[in-house]
Amino acid sequence: MRTPIEKVTPETGHAKCVGFVHEVRDLGGLTFVLLRDRTGILQVTVPKKKVPPEVVEAVRAVSRESVVMVTGEVKATEKAPGGRELVPSTFEILSRAETPLPLDVAEKVPAELDTRLDVRFLDARRPRVAAVFQVRSAVLHETARYLHKHDFIQITTPKIVAAATEGGTELFPIAYFEKEAFLNQSPQLYKQMMMGAGFEKVFEIGPIFRAEEHNTTRHLNEATSIDVEVSFADHLDVMDLLEGLVISVYEHVAATCGDAIERGGFEACRIPKAPFARLPYAEAIEIAASRIEEPIAFGDDLSPSAERAIGEAMGEHYFVVDWPSSIRPYYAMPYEDDPSICKAFDLMHPRMELSSGAQRVHRHDQLVQQIASKGLSPESFEFYLRPFRYGMPPHAGWGLGVERFVMTMLGLSNVREAVLFPRDRHRLVP
Ligand code: ATP
Ligand code: MG
Repeated sequence: MRTPIEKVTPETGHAKCVGFVHEVRDLGGLTFVLLRDRTGILQVTVPKKKVPPEVVEAVRAVSRESVVMVTGEVKATEKAPGGRELVPSTFEILSRAETPLPLDVAEKVPAELDTRLDVRFLDARRPRVAAVFQVRSAVLHETARYLHKHDFIQITTPKIVAAATEGGTELFPIAYFEKEAFLNQSPQLYKQMMMGAGFEKVFEIGPIFRAEEHNTTRHLNEATSIDVEVSFADHLDVMDLLEGLVISVYEHVAATCGDAIERGGFEACRIPKAPFARLPYAEAIEIAASRIEEPIAFGDDLSPSAERAIGEAMGEHYFVVDWPSSIRPYYAMPYEDDPSICKAFDLMHPRMELSSGAQRVHRHDQLVQQIASKGLSPESFEFYLRPFRYGMPPHAGWGLGVERFVMTMLGLSNVREAVLFPRDRHRLVP
């Protein structure tokens, strides 16, 4: 068995380590090889006169980023990282890396994002990138744990669908035998249908596909969404759930990813404080109007610059609530006493939107009427509307983008950094 590098201490004695060659420094009679695995870096010290000749030969022949297996004695030394070094008795090249490398893994200065994404496997060998994906993994882990703990059932809904969730043109058409089909933009309709099935609390973590042509630092064409739907609940209930989940995920990341975050050169992430402010849309646009030049009026969506201006004023996670019904989807529940606004919300990070949610319309006649009033045809939503005719609990839910969650948590500048193999307007490979 190999010893993970973080477990190698002066007390280890004889050790077998396997990893990538991070760096080779040849000082004549003495060569240092820095060996790296995902847990850290170990200095392999090779005094040429004191180790077997085949070790000297292998060390001379090895290239950076090759995979090697080294056995030898661990010794304490203050001059090496971690206060220990390995003096090899064997040094075997398991897989030789070609030269030159398409990306310098040990390079401190980051390469262009496009170059990095082209060779993501090399890029991900860097502690900074590895940290992003360790954090992403922790986010998904804690999300599922938190929701299971709150009695949710995890579901999986189809990604190949016949109809759009919200109409519009943001869909990728696909060839499905002789039928027209699309990649689903959201599990919205399906998770709502499961309220009609009596599941009460469901969540899904899965891909969403958006054929938006815009190329921004916070949009992907394939993203991962955490979707939740809850019966016998209103928008306020699911906002509380979302707030609790966000804080719990931050706490879990802080508790489990501290080392990786530090090794990756990130600042420790600050855990947001509950309760998040709840800012009515009408006040949000006033804040924006007082801070930016562009005109903004009731019924306008929040532009990126408006989002930024409001975010600066708020300085912390916050909800925007009480949205105009005209700019929310047909399934959002209007207020009974003022149907021009609805029980919809967005969870905002000061930099951008993280999540959208609402209490949903659960009465069939009202839903049909709202679909029609958005210029859509209720006939094409028959599969979705049917459960509403046979007993549908009042319900509410939200969708939270995993990439934006990770991006804002770590302060990444581009959402593509939070996906292993991003799909965007131009990128389809690897
Ligand atoms: P935006 O207005 O910022 O484009 P949206 O309102 O279209 O987002 P929703 O349909 O409300 O997005 O989706 C819910 C959440 O899913 C968003 O808040 C976001 O976190 C995530 N999300 C949606 N579309 C994308 C995308 N194209 N790329 C990355 N994440 C996305
Ligand atoms: Mg939204």
